[in-house]
Amino acid sequence: MSRKLNFIPHIPNYKYIREQMKADLEYRLSNRLRKTSFGRPLYERINVQVIMTHECPYNCPFCIERKHPMKGNQNMFEQVLSLIHVLKEHPQARVTITGGEPSLYPRHVLHLSKVYRMWSDGVFLAINTAGYDNSIVGIGHINLSVNDYVHPDVEKFPGCTYQTVLTKDKMNLENIKHIMSSNPSAGGFSFRFLCDLSQDTYDVSIWNALQNDPEITVKTFRIGDFFVYCTFDWNGRHARVTLGDMCQQQKNDYHDGYSNIIIHPDGKIGLNWN
Ligand code: SF4
Repeated sequence: MSRKLNFIPHIPNYKYIREQMKADLEYRLSNRLRKTSFGRPLYERINVQVIMTHECPYNCPFCIERKHPMKGNQNMFEQVLSLIHVLKEHPQARVTITGGEPSLYPRHVLHLSKVYRMWSDGVFLAINTAGYDNSIVGIGHINLSVNDYVHPDVEKFPGCTYQTVLTKDKMNLENIKHIMSSNPSAGGFSFRFLCDLSQDTYDVSIWNALQNDPEITVKTFRIGDFFVYCTFDWNGRHARVTLGDMCQQQKNDYHDGYSNIIIHPDGKIGLNWN
């Protein structure tokens, strides 16, 4: 599925999604011919994640960084040089500063944001935070992580996206609507599937439920090379459901293509989450 839809087709099972992921990758490898010094970017507005620190004061049991920590020592100077390098080749990149917990180092977050503004077209800058320090408000769009293990005060991050990971039993519309109606100060919502590097199948019922609920207006739906997302409106609020299938991404053969860029804590530039 190589384009965005404004509806969700009936999803019979996860095998269907996996086939669409493979088809999307094949389409992009055949059609995306522009080259950078990294290879061939498979998306126009490529996602760049700056994993600026391994450190985090919290301890979520599902944390990918805790289970598979990034290698290399934190080197803020090298991170800046790498971000400039990437933005020179991808001025339209969508950049996310993440970790660990970026707000442990608010001055460095500010510095990275200045680099982003100087070297990019300013398409989108987000900061993933569990809300340790709200002095980062205003630097970029805040994705505020909330879950059973971190409980930031949403009101201290006005306009933020309330971002949470849902286990299989909680990825349903009843729960999603409950969260959306219980957090009036959030600007939007992001519901992510709980993922593990080895998990190769997921429940598909939420996609069909979103399409079939008369109160919900589906805005966009897309299956990419290793991800699925839907954006929708409900009751005057905007939200997104995202599945990032890391197992599929590890299996994909990207040849010289890349679908996202990672800047590691030591400044190393990685492709396709490597
Ligand atoms: S807040 Fe984020 S980085 Fe910190 S332990 Fe939880 S999931 Fe990991």
